[in-house]
Amino acid sequence: MRRQVFDITQLVLDIFEQLELKAARRNVTLALAPPPQPNTGLRVLADRNRIRQVLINLIDNAIKYGRENGHVTVAVAESGKGVRISVQDDGEGIPKQHQNRIFERFYRIDKSRSRESREAGGSGLGLAISKHIVEAHRSTIRVHSEVGQGTTLEFKLPKPRAAATALAANAT
Ligand code: ATP
Ligand code: MG
Repeated sequence: MRRQVFDITQLVLDIFEQLELKAARRNVTLALAPPPQPNTGLRVLADRNRIRQVLINLIDNAIKYGRENGHVTVAVAESGKGVRISVQDDGEGIPKQHQNRIFERFYRIDKSRSRESREAGGSGLGLAISKHIVEAHRSTIRVHSEVGQGTTLEFKLPKPRAAATALAANAT
């Protein structure tokens, strides 16, 4: 792991740009909450590349398994000593009996009858890898989902200590 101080808000916006086309193909709107404003980004101390991988998978899942013409909202908020990041969709949701199993390698909820989900593809590894990365940051990834309402995946990352922030500022 290579921990560094970085702006998590900016990372989310970069990933939105990267996944823009994919979202447009399903007419899904990507939004950040609260809406971005100059100099309001939140900084975290984490492995930027690994966290990028986690967020790409969560947002990609929300686009693929969420509702067509739906909304995907990424919320970034301070929470005690950390920053909470959540990815919410308004798709069909995940039934209770699958909610723990989606983090297992190769586990995919069988939706093979629907043409749309066959096209969504995927190997069933994204969430297993994401869980591993979040846990390497001494954190936990959680799912909240209601069938027919949507799904939220969330995790926390540590805020930088004051000293780390000063170091990062001087390094530019
Ligand atoms: P990969 O990420 O390897 O491309 P994948 O997206 O199918 O493949 P995971 O990201 O591990 O695999 O997700 C596992 C399964 O959990 C998915 O196949 C899907 O059935 C279910 N799932 C994940 N995210 C959502 C979501 N936001 N809404 C509904 N179901 C979801
Ligand atoms: Mg995935």
